[in-house]
Amino acid sequence: MAPTRKSTSMESTLLSVRLKAQIARIGPIGVEHYMDVCLSDAAAGYYASKQPIGAAGDFITAPEVSQIFGELLGLWAYASWQSMGSPQQVVLAELGPGRGTLMADALRAVSRLPGFMDCATVALVETSQPLRRAQEETLAGAGVNVSWHETVESLPRGPLIVIANEFIDALPIRQLVWREGQWHERCVQIAANGGFEFCEGPSLVVEDLKRNAESRQLPEGSILEVRPAANAVIAALASRGKDSPLTALIIDYGHETTEYGDTLQAVSRHKFANPLHAPGNVDLTAHVDFGALKDAARDEGMTAYGPMSQRDLLSGLGLQVRLEKLCEDASPEQREALVAGVDRLVDPAAMGVLFKALAITSNELPPPPGFENLA
Ligand code: SAH
Repeated sequence: MAPTRKSTSMESTLLSVRLKAQIARIGPIGVEHYMDVCLSDAAAGYYASKQPIGAAGDFITAPEVSQIFGELLGLWAYASWQSMGSPQQVVLAELGPGRGTLMADALRAVSRLPGFMDCATVALVETSQPLRRAQEETLAGAGVNVSWHETVESLPRGPLIVIANEFIDALPIRQLVWREGQWHERCVQIAANGGFEFCEGPSLVVEDLKRNAESRQLPEGSILEVRPAANAVIAALASRGKDSPLTALIIDYGHETTEYGDTLQAVSRHKFANPLHAPGNVDLTAHVDFGALKDAARDEGMTAYGPMSQRDLLSGLGLQVRLEKLCEDASPEQREALVAGVDRLVDPAAMGVLFKALAITSNELPPPPGFENLA
């Protein structure tokens, strides 16, 4: 493990040097650009060079906490397929599938039900080469055709069911700072000590946001985060939903409606870190603004439901029944682990409430499973 860490920190240093050279040349860079380079630089970006997920990585996600998470989402996909009229061909797509664990658990669950596996192909939108390799390994025996895609735009045509867990939070954000009655781009510059520091760029003209801010009488220094890449994903889904049935489930951590504040965070080895230290070597994410996503989906002409808490979604999809079933055949130690995993997914002090789910469908479809009461 030591050599890997060494080379990773060397790449991080190289990325720092490159970013500093760029800032010296063109001036401060926006937070969005900084985040994008840190995460996605082809040579030294976080996702290009690391296996971030799991106990030995930097962070853990719901499918890695409990197999029940993926199993229930598999059942969700199955019911979504049925509500499309069980089409003969359906694409089950996942955006940012990590190690492939969610998809493997989902496919195992649906393979016990009639029909779906004969009609489905799996399409994974993933930019990270190390994670693509992990997904290939995890899904080798899944009994279904799997294809990989760089973006939503290149997903195969036809009826489409999309799952995205902790994908949107990894897309870069812009941060706008409200100062003296104007919005300013929050940027990154070189500090006197040679490191990186935040600064504010010149004022921006963003008319609708300005009026909104004035009507809310935002305090000086308020930060608004916007995520152009997420809007692009929603627009791409909407364009697919115009041609054929589409249902999407987006699960992530974030807030129900737009809030003001700085949520950019860095995580390394399961601890918070400074987002401006070790670029490319730490995970960078920011809260998902579910209100903005929902507005974007509706503006694009789709129907959006929620968000609802992860706790409510999983309970509604039959979490307890599945847990009891698994416990029947489990040893006492396994039972303890199963219960602990489920607790972590639904406990309001853990992932139960901060994590939320938003469903988006093309207009002709009924509300997706679990979202019926939100219609
Ligand atoms: N859904 C997984 C992994 C979440 S981590 C889980 O729950 O365990 C974020 C995932 O999104 C990783 O697979 C990462 O490589 C991928 N990702 C990040 N940015 C991306 C982008 N712009 N396009 C496609 N995939 C991306």
